[in-house]
Amino acid sequence: MREYKLTVGLEVHAELKTKTKMFCNSANDPFNAEPNVNICPVCMAHPGTLPVINKQAVNHVLRVGTALGSDLADFTEFDRKNYFYPDIPKGYQISQYKYPLVSGGLLNGVAIERVHLEEDTASSSHSSADAARASDVSAGSLVDFNRAGVPLMELVTKPVIHTAEEAGAFARELQLLLRTLGVSDANMEKGEMRVEANISISKTDKLGTKVEVKNLNSFRSVERAIAYEVERMTKILDGGPGEIVQETRGWDEGGQKTFSQRKKESAHDYRYFPDPDLPRPRFTKIKNF
Ligand SMILES: [Zn+2]
Repeated sequence: MREYKLTVGLEVHAELKTKTKMFCNSANDPFNAEPNVNICPVCMAHPGTLPVINKQAVNHVLRVGTALGSDLADFTEFDRKNYFYPDIPKGYQISQYKYPLVSGGLLNGVAIERVHLEEDTASSSHSSADAARASDVSAGSLVDFNRAGVPLMELVTKPVIHTAEEAGAFARELQLLLRTLGVSDANMEKGEMRVEANISISKTDKLGTKVEVKNLNSFRSVERAIAYEVERMTKILDGGPGEIVQETRGWDEGGQKTFSQRKKESAHDYRYFPDPDLPRPRFTKIKNF
């Protein structure tokens, strides 16, 4: 019997090291011990405020693209990705959809699809009634906006990875690259670098149903989650109950397994459109920027 062939594409987010946030003058210091101090009317989405593009963040992404041997955009655009969640004060995230800063390239033998620039969300923490009593705070969810608007790079690989080890090796190499270029500390345990894996298996050249696994905050969990999914999907296809559902799954570090989170959104759910508050930068080639 033919074995299933594994196909993986990675999406990696990395917080960029800049003085200020992506679209305002608030300090880029998401790990400040005191919550909600690095904020201003822009990143808190007060009416009438306008974003300004952080050039240092743009340069960081262009440097990454140069190191990857990618095509650097001569024109770019920022788009609004609309969704409603307490960690996103505007009700949309500014991201890039049609015109990423960087396209193509190669790292560790893995072809890159694109690298674009966006802003990070706020960080939320959830405490149960028991935990709240123990630390003398109210139960429920708390939101810290120090991270809201921090420049975030998203790198997407082509679906060309075929083993869990190859995925882990790619993530390690990318961390090294980001640190060498000085554009991100890329510490996975701190969430400065976050990996998502799009995983499918198939016996033919046609890709199987894809599952996206999130919350992978170590290289080991990237490899283990992929290995776990191969086993889970193989069992289902070989006659186990149910069928592979296209969905987003989380990684349970304690249980060393993935779990279903939600049905996967598609791009049209986000109603992307160009942000009318931002200019559309054009770039001219200069040597040694
Ligand atoms: Zn701000």
